[in-house]
Amino acid sequence: MIPANTQIQSFLPLKNVSDQELSFEQHDKSKAKKAAFLSSSAQIWKSRLSWRIAAAVFMTILLVQTMIMNFGTVPTFRQRLLTDLRETNSIAIAAMIDPTAGYNKAPFTREQVERLLNISNVTGLTVYSYQSEPIATFGSAPAMAEKNIRTTGYNRYDSQTGLYELVLNAADLKRPYYIAIKIDASDIQDKVAFFITDTIKIMLTMSLFVTSVLMIALGRWLLEPMLFMRSNLLAAFKSPEEPNIPESPFDTRDEVGSAIELTQKLIHQNADNLTRIKSAAEDKIHKLAYYDTLTGLPNRTLFIQSLNEQARQKQDGTADRFAVVAIDLDHFKDINDSMGHNIGDAILRSVARRLRSAMPESAVVSRSGEDEYAIMMPLSADINTARDVAEKVHHVIRSEPFKVFNEAFQVRASIGVATFPDDAIDPDQVLKNADIALNRAKEEGRDTIKEYSEDFDRAVQARFQMLRDLRDAMEHDQLDLHYQPQLDLKTGKLIGAEALLRWFKPDNSKEGGTFVSPADFIPVAEQSGLIVPIGEWVMRTACENAKGWHDEHGIDIRIAINVSAHQFSQSDICAFTQKTIKDIGIDAHKVELEVTESVFMDDISHTIQTLQNLHAIGVELAIDDFGTGYSSLSYLRQFPIDRLKIDQSFIRNALNDQDDASIARTIIALGRALNLKVIAEGVETIEHEQFLIKEGCDEVQGFRYSRPVPAKDFLAFAKAYNNDLKPLD
Ligand code: C2E
Ligand code: MG
Ligand code: MG
Repeated sequence: MIPANTQIQSFLPLKNVSDQELSFEQHDKSKAKKAAFLSSSAQIWKSRLSWRIAAAVFMTILLVQTMIMNFGTVPTFRQRLLTDLRETNSIAIAAMIDPTAGYNKAPFTREQVERLLNISNVTGLTVYSYQSEPIATFGSAPAMAEKNIRTTGYNRYDSQTGLYELVLNAADLKRPYYIAIKIDASDIQDKVAFFITDTIKIMLTMSLFVTSVLMIALGRWLLEPMLFMRSNLLAAFKSPEEPNIPESPFDTRDEVGSAIELTQKLIHQNADNLTRIKSAAEDKIHKLAYYDTLTGLPNRTLFIQSLNEQARQKQDGTADRFAVVAIDLDHFKDINDSMGHNIGDAILRSVARRLRSAMPESAVVSRSGEDEYAIMMPLSADINTARDVAEKVHHVIRSEPFKVFNEAFQVRASIGVATFPDDAIDPDQVLKNADIALNRAKEEGRDTIKEYSEDFDRAVQARFQMLRDLRDAMEHDQLDLHYQPQLDLKTGKLIGAEALLRWFKPDNSKEGGTFVSPADFIPVAEQSGLIVPIGEWVMRTACENAKGWHDEHGIDIRIAINVSAHQFSQSDICAFTQKTIKDIGIDAHKVELEVTESVFMDDISHTIQTLQNLHAIGVELAIDDFGTGYSSLSYLRQFPIDRLKIDQSFIRNALNDQDDASIARTIIALGRALNLKVIAEGVETIEHEQFLIKEGCDEVQGFRYSRPVPAKDFLAFAKAYNNDLKPLD
C-alpha cells in the first residue's frame, strides 16, 4: 500500500509550486528524457532484436532492388540506348534521302554516306528496293535475309561484337525503301555497366538510409518502451511491495504505450495486494501472539506489555496508580472434567465477557492462564484502592450463576491484588505480587480476596529456601521414618504402625539440628513434585522395615503409609506399589495406604480407577483425617475403602465440645453401618480412650500409647508391649 501511494502521490500535481520551481522541474524532466533517449539510442546498437530486424530489412531492400534491376531496369536501359541509336540514325539517314531519286537506285550519293559513316557509329548500310532487292551497299554493310528486311522494326544486337543491325522501312524513311544499317554499339556495354554501378551505389545508400531510419524508429517506438517496461518489471521483481517505477513518458494511445500503462497498473496492483496480504498476515500473527483465541482477550504477553506501558507513563508523570488483579476460578478443573470441555470453554468465555463489560475502558482485562484472568486498572477518585477493584471483580463473578446450555453454574473465584507503585515499582513484580496474593487466597480456602503483603513474599522466599533444603536433605539422607503404633481397642493387641516422615535438618546449634515438621515440608514437596520420589522412598523403607520385623522378630502387623493426592495425579502409584510389594516380598494385606479426602477433589474417574486397582492388588485403604474435608457419603459407597480414620481434632475436643463428640460418634456409627473399621488418632489420655471404648471405636493411635518413634525404638515397643493398652514407661 505504502509504495503504491507514494508513487501515485508523487505524480499528482503539486500545489503551491512556483513557476520557477515548475520550470526547473520541466527542465529536469526534459533532461531526464534526453538522457533516457541517449541511453536508449546507445542501447539500440547493442540490441540483438534491432540488429536482426535491421539486417532483415536491409537484405530485403537489397534483394528487391537486385530483382528490379535484373528483370527490369538494366534490359530497359539497354533497350532505350539501342532505340535512341536507331532513332538518331534513322533521322540522319532519312534526312540524307533525295526525294526526287528513282526507286531503283540509291537515294543519296556515296559522299553523303561516307560523311555519315565518318561522323556516326554507322559502319555500313545497304539500300533495298521496296521489292527487297539490294540497290546499293556502303561500308561494312549487313547481309540481311529477305524475311528480316520485311519484318517491321527488325533489329539485332550482338553483345559479343557490340554490333547492332537494324532495318529501316518506308514508315521510318517516308520513302519506299528498306535500308539495313550496321552500327558499332560497343559503348553500350560500358554505359550499362556504369548504369549498374550507379544504381548499386544508390541502392546501398538508400538501404543504409532506410535501415538507419528504421533502427531509430524501432529504438524510439519499440525498443525504448520495451526497455522501460523491462526496467519496470525488474524493479517490481526486486521489490514487489515497493516497486520504484517512474511515470511512463510514452503515449498511452499507442499499443506499446498502453501496454506499459497496463503493466504499471498491474505492478501497483500487485504491490497493493502484497502489502494488504502482508498486513493481514501480520494482523493475524499479532492476534495469535497477543490474544487468547478462546475469549478474544489479550493474553499474558500483551498484558505484561500493557503493564510496562502504563508504568512508563507513570514515570512521565502522566499516569496514576494502578491495580493488578489476578483471578483464578475455583475448582474449574472439576467442571471441565465432569461436564466436558465445551461447557468449560463456554464458562471461560462468559466470565471473560462479564469481566470485560464490568470494567471501564481504561482497564486491561486479559486471560493469563487456563482458568486465570488478570486485570490492570488505573485507580481513580471513584475506585481508589486495589481492594475496591478486587471486590468489584468478586461481585461480578459471584453475583449470578453462569448460564450455559440451559444449565446454571455457580462460579467462585480466588483473587489476589497488588498496587503499582505501592507494592512494587517494577510492573512485572506487581503482577508477580498479585499472583503471590492469589496463591495465598487459594491456600486460605479459595473464594476470597487477598491483598499483597510483604509477609507473603517472605513466606514465598521461605518456601523456596525450604525446597532447596529439601533437595539437599534427599541427597544427604536427612529424611527418616518414625513409626507410631496402632492398637485394637477391644483386644488391646498391636495391629499396626503408621509410618511418619521425619526430617532432621542439621545446623550449628547445640542440638546439631532441628526437626522440620512434615506439616511444613510436605506441602512444599507436593507443589514441587518432590513428593513423588520422597513418597516412593517412604513406601519402600516402610515395607522393608515391616518385612524385617515380621521375618526376624515375628511381629505381624500392618504398615500404614501416607499418600498425598499429588502422588495420585503425578505418578503411577499403583504400578509402583505393586512392584515394591513384589520386590520386598511383603503380604499386600499388610500394607495400608492412607489418603485424605482431597484425593476425591481431583480427577474423580482417575481416582476411582487407581483405588480399585490398588484394592485389586490386595492393599488396604484408609481415609485419613476423616471429617475435615469435603465429605460425601456417596464416595464411601463407590470406593473400595477399608478404614475411616477420625481426625485427631475431634478426639482432642470430644470431652469438652459436644459437637466434636457428636461428629466422632457419627463417624463411628457410619463405619459400623458401612462395615468399615474406624480408627481414632490423636488419643492422648485415658479419658479419650474411655470415650472411644464407650462409642464402640475399633482401633486407636496416639501419644497415650506411644509417640512416633524411630524404627529401632518401635521394635523395642512392639517386643515389650503386652496387649493391655497401657502406655509403656
Ligand atoms: P497424619 O497422617 O494425620 O499423621 C498423624 C499426625 O498426628 C502425625 O503428625 C503424628 O505425629 C500426630 N499425632 C499422632 N498421635 C498424636 C497425638 O496423640 N496427639 C497429637 N497432638 N498429635 C499426634 P506428624 O508426624 O507431624 O505428621 C503430620 C502430617 O504430615 C501427617 O498427618 C501426614 O498428613 C503428613 N505426613 C507425614 N508423613 C508423611 C508421608 O510419609 N507422606 C505424606 N504424603 N504425608 C506425610
Ligand atoms: Mg496419616
Ligand atoms: Mg491424620
